[in-house]
Amino acid sequence: MTLESPAPETKSLHFIEEIMEADLASQKHAGRIMTRFPPEPNGYLHIGHAKSICINFGLAKKYGGQTNLRFDDTNPVKEDIEYVDSIREDVHWLGFGWANEFYASDYFQFLYDYAEYLIQQGKAYVCDLSDEAIKEYRGNFYTPGKESPFRNRSAEENLDLFRRMRAGEFADGSRTLRAKIDVQSPNMNLRDPLMYRIKRAHHHRTGDAWLIYPMYDYAHGVCDAIETITHSICTLEFEDHRPLYDWFLEQDVEGKFFKRPLPRQIEFARLNLTHTVMSKRRLLQLVQENQVRGWDDPRMPTICGLRRRGYTPEAVRAFAEHVGVAKRDMVADVELLEHCIRQDLELHAPRAMAVLHPLKLVITNMSKTEGFEVELPRHPELPDLGTRTIPFSNELWIDQDDFREEAPKKWFRLAPGAEVRLRGAALVTCQEIIKDANGTVVELRCTWDPASKGGNAPDGRKVKGTIHWVSAQHAIDGEVRLYEQLFLANDPMDVPEGQDWHQGINAQSLEIITAKLEPSLAQAKPGERFQFERTGYFAVDLDSAPGALVFNRTVGLKDSWAKIEAKG
Ligand code: ATP
Ligand code: MG
Repeated sequence: MTLESPAPETKSLHFIEEIMEADLASQKHAGRIMTRFPPEPNGYLHIGHAKSICINFGLAKKYGGQTNLRFDDTNPVKEDIEYVDSIREDVHWLGFGWANEFYASDYFQFLYDYAEYLIQQGKAYVCDLSDEAIKEYRGNFYTPGKESPFRNRSAEENLDLFRRMRAGEFADGSRTLRAKIDVQSPNMNLRDPLMYRIKRAHHHRTGDAWLIYPMYDYAHGVCDAIETITHSICTLEFEDHRPLYDWFLEQDVEGKFFKRPLPRQIEFARLNLTHTVMSKRRLLQLVQENQVRGWDDPRMPTICGLRRRGYTPEAVRAFAEHVGVAKRDMVADVELLEHCIRQDLELHAPRAMAVLHPLKLVITNMSKTEGFEVELPRHPELPDLGTRTIPFSNELWIDQDDFREEAPKKWFRLAPGAEVRLRGAALVTCQEIIKDANGTVVELRCTWDPASKGGNAPDGRKVKGTIHWVSAQHAIDGEVRLYEQLFLANDPMDVPEGQDWHQGINAQSLEIITAKLEPSLAQAKPGERFQFERTGYFAVDLDSAPGALVFNRTVGLKDSWAKIEAKG
């Protein structure tokens, strides 16, 4: 996948834009564009939903239309108000507002009335076959289906039975309402699909008012039509359901129920992402099994997880734009997502110095009282953000990664005898290394050039390496959570037969360390984002409090050294 997209003015329309522009040109819906985002409130939204949100809200916005947020709550068992609230929050956070908030359950009476109408038209019947028998009768791709023995009940009998289904006269699962379409159709979806089932379940909005619940395929198109949705955008797995979507609406032959023109279903490819699972069902499993710390664990591909990790809505929208709108299923590289947040934070995140793996550096020719303060910009390109003051002293922390006892070629950081720049402060030369009993380097003894205060020597001698540091006496401790991919494999679901996808979970996906931070970070508030210079981008976690700071690594900087070293 290429990271660069063409400039907006040269970008051609994608197929959904083409459809919309043609419909606008022909005045099909009197110049109106109305879309909807229809999540089922049975889990938190993930990055795949973000894609769908960006398409539905983004296209409506582009063409001066509107978008409804519709909770598809036709399945009472798995749904919860907690999910409803989180979905609202996530859509808002992504930067979108909806024209109306609706619930499929708002239309239960309408759906029921239309079902009675279909029965009266001879288009639906009550079937007494069990689920298993229905399956058997339906046949499969190679075998045509058989008609249900209940298929030819009279409209009066069907109406009576359907009313009694609603009234609670029959046991759960004992009867269903089915559409009377074509049991021989090569499209399995048209072999007399279910419209209603009996289920004594408490619904989070309608309570115990209903004992029968409509099926998704029946409810979805009807809801769209009630809301006069013009373009009903969904994912590719519903392509084979489109004839059914149309059939249900077209049975309103007298035009008593729906305004014309009817909505049009358009399918696009689901978004998948490398190194993660994406369905709500699997994500719920990860949460329930405590594989992660919750739906908003920063390793999760959920919108709340990304937010907690430090992603911005701009970066998520840019990612959705980059992956485009495709007709074939695709897997986006998680590195593209990381690229998008890096680009955004590079432009906006204030800088700070933090030492993640501290190594003591002592300046032997400086006394305790000779320390000074340096002032560095918060952001090199954004002078309006101002500066920060960082104390420098004779005892510092530098990163273990910035020292090598045996320096390889092209190593410009610290090594015995080498001179390096401590960013914005001074030039120091490593004179001596101190090791503990195990032979681990625990301290570097250096001398500094007092003339290099501010970072450069007056003689103009070239010192190529610059490293970051914090003053040992002034630094504050902070918990830093370092994340790796939740799954090592590109496609976690691609496991050998008989093996469970759980086995691919990366046990090292979270590492918690205590870092040494520059004192200006003491004021950092949850949600704020920083570039820790030379290290990566970090966001203050919700768990953070004054005196007990917690940071999440959003994404690392690209480490050019790792690349040089890999090349050899
Ligand atoms: P999941 O399988 O993850 O539970 P879903 O499709 O059941 O997802 P819904 O709540 O029904 O989730 O989806 C709401 C909308 O988001 C639907 O229009 C659906 O097509 C879209 N959507 C869901 N997952 C993706 C994805 N991976 N890529 C693009 N759109 C998606
Ligand atoms: Mg679903």
